[in-house]
Amino acid sequence: MTDPVTTVDGWKLTYSGKVRDLYTSPSVPGRALVVASDRVSAFDHVLEPGIPGKGELLTKLSMWWFDQLVDVPNHLAADGPHDPLIPPAVAGRAMLVNRLEMFPIECVVRGYLVGSGWAEYQSTQSVCGVALPAGLSAGDRLPEPIYTPAWKAPLGQHDENITFERTVELVGAKAATSLRDLSLHIFARASVIAETRGIILADTKFEFGADAEGTITLADEVLTSDSSRYWDADLYADGNRTASFDKQIVRDWLSANWNSEGTPPALPPQVVARTSERYRELIQRLTGQ
Ligand code: ATP
Ligand code: MG
Repeated sequence: MTDPVTTVDGWKLTYSGKVRDLYTSPSVPGRALVVASDRVSAFDHVLEPGIPGKGELLTKLSMWWFDQLVDVPNHLAADGPHDPLIPPAVAGRAMLVNRLEMFPIECVVRGYLVGSGWAEYQSTQSVCGVALPAGLSAGDRLPEPIYTPAWKAPLGQHDENITFERTVELVGAKAATSLRDLSLHIFARASVIAETRGIILADTKFEFGADAEGTITLADEVLTSDSSRYWDADLYADGNRTASFDKQIVRDWLSANWNSEGTPPALPPQVVARTSERYRELIQRLTGQ
């Protein structure tokens, strides 16, 4: 996979995550460019090859969600994707943002019992320390969405599930409470919006930062098919609980074809094509575009 270029029109690469690259420029203080690549990651590994067009799709979806969540302060600093400060080379997959002091917490909200949550529930009847009623099945809707934060590990390490109390120790009671309440608020709002379009938002993860005034601000990508599990509501009602619009296709293929040791195998063309197709379909269903 091609590595990110180190400079784009005077913007310098300052951080390269698994999927996104962060650029800053001395002539644009306080701002940053968050550039989404076509890289795809699963189980904390970046896989080969990328998903063509994914960076652009993810950026489009994030921007659409920021627009829907009018009452939540967000990090966008441009009027739109055609802001003159955004270099043409990355146009369409870049967001011009206010540079924030990021909280080292992945604010996970789960509305359904799935994935690692389902695995944990089967042995403890709880998810990340949150006790749940007995008798739930795989893919069931939870009585109410739960907040299960994770500590954001430095690149190369696995994020670690932590309790709400631990987030209080990490960022203080006031910020920790705001992160939780905002996350649950956004999840509830987004779930309703998705439901009206026949889509279930099963779970998601948010990242927040504080701006210069200390305002807690929604950052990074938001409610994309990379950070969220989305399901087709009709298929779910019919009992097909695995028909997802997210990178579950990639996860499933990898689970079946890799023993988690060494370098993951390259994704076959059909898996790449199917993933790309589902990402496009999700955007079409949600945004109508
Ligand atoms: P992953 O998301 O795959 O677990 P990651 O979060 O390290 O890994 P990316 O999401 O690909 O990697 O990289 C984006 C980086 O930019 C993250 O570290 C994120 O915290 C940071 N970021 C996002 N928005 C802002 C912002 N407004 N100000 C400062 N940093 C930001
Ligand atoms: Mg991230």
